[in-house]
Amino acid sequence: MSESANRLQLHDTLTRTAREVWPSEAGTLRFYGCGPTVYGPAHIGNFRTFIAQDVFRRVVELSGTPTLHVRNITDVDDKTIRDSQKAGQTLIEFTQYWTERFHADCAALNLLPPHVEPKATDHIAHQIKMIEDLIAHGNAYAAPDGSVYFRVSSYADYGKLSHLEDRELKVGAAQTANDSDEYTKDSLADFALWKAHKPDDGENFWESPWGKGRPGWHLECSAMALEYLGVEFDLHSGGIDLVFPHHENEIAQSCCATGGRFARHWMHIAHLMVDSGKMSKSLGNLYTLADLGHRGYSPAVVRYTLLSGHYRQPLNFTLHSLDASHQALLKLAKFEKQLRALTGATAAPSLDELRAAGKADIFAEAWADLLNDLNVPGAIGAVFATINKTKPATLSVEAAKSAWVGLHFVLAALGLELPVIKDEGEVEAPEEVKALADQRWNAKQARDWTSADDLRKQIELLGWIVKDSKEGYTLTPQA
Ligand code: AMP
Ligand code: ZN
Repeated sequence: MSESANRLQLHDTLTRTAREVWPSEAGTLRFYGCGPTVYGPAHIGNFRTFIAQDVFRRVVELSGTPTLHVRNITDVDDKTIRDSQKAGQTLIEFTQYWTERFHADCAALNLLPPHVEPKATDHIAHQIKMIEDLIAHGNAYAAPDGSVYFRVSSYADYGKLSHLEDRELKVGAAQTANDSDEYTKDSLADFALWKAHKPDDGENFWESPWGKGRPGWHLECSAMALEYLGVEFDLHSGGIDLVFPHHENEIAQSCCATGGRFARHWMHIAHLMVDSGKMSKSLGNLYTLADLGHRGYSPAVVRYTLLSGHYRQPLNFTLHSLDASHQALLKLAKFEKQLRALTGATAAPSLDELRAAGKADIFAEAWADLLNDLNVPGAIGAVFATINKTKPATLSVEAAKSAWVGLHFVLAALGLELPVIKDEGEVEAPEEVKALADQRWNAKQARDWTSADDLRKQIELLGWIVKDSKEGYTLTPQA
């Protein structure tokens, strides 16, 4: 395969065309993804977006290009302040707890950790500096109450990402899910860069040249992208709801503060829906990974389900689709086992080995689908078409080896980990799960019911069900 045939073509929201993704500098593809607001458990809609970004990164890396992935943690906004106060915790304690929960879910879903994961509260000085630059360049102004606003009319390119009508831009710019704006600004469209302290904010404020306050939500991504990726970088991404106003505002802030171009390519992920409504905390129609774990679904099944629609199309979530995903994973695992038996291998090839192989062998069509705007449903369909027409027993050892590496190449791109099939229908638990089950058994012998219960939940979160008998316990995979 020639080098350019191995490059990803990805739809760009800015130009509305598919464009090649290629690093502009020093061979590393640098990208920013807007991270979670840590005030409760992330729902699987949020994870649809993070998993699509993870597949993007995996495909780029497997095609031979290293990445620098920055994803922020929003740990100060209206919601984190409000809910930390309700919980009677400091903002830092409260957001730290939810950040750790987020990390645990990410690990269970096999998401590669970003190389840099900056927090908004650790970058207040960077944000203040950016506001000072914007004021100096005539793009921002301080209001009498000590808030600072971006003057939307000062940036002629405002609206270039979202392609919205002038009228919609004017009313919408200041509306965000994360922060409400005040009305001390010159124009309705202007949005807050710095929010003057209000009594409701309590102890949550920082000193600034404009008095006590806190940064507006949009600013943190501009400031942290500048710090870790520079004035211009390869790609920026988020859920579709972030196109406007969040990303439009990020572009305005960054381009006006630095004079640079900011992100060259924009990737947006369509929503996970439930009964034709967006899955969201405010609509109360959400599922978390833990909710689905309690219903017996493993993180791998959830990941497969969230991948099953094209990232640019809304995906309707049903519990039934989780059962279908479970069956699909078992079929993949069976085929993998048949091929592996022919190769004599005991462990899956490492990522380095896969990168060195650089191709998907008999699964080349699936890889081509992934390079074509991350067409995951197409790739999954192609994998099953290949499996259906391949009889492992008829392959030579060499052919089986190449096919096996090819299958792992595609699985690695999708970040799919297969259930381990021992014998027909019997599945062996991973060591980590067995260790938790042993600990739980010991806790039960010691009549420590709280720990035993806690450990059972951890086992469930990893996708396993533990059942007790007189002699001991058995572990079975969730559906
Ligand atoms: P938040 O924690 O609300 O800032 O959201 C984190 C990420 O999840 C953002 O990129 C959002 O655009 C994305 N997101 C929120 N709801 C959904 C959904 N229902 N489907 C897909 N992505 C979502
Ligand atoms: Zn952002």
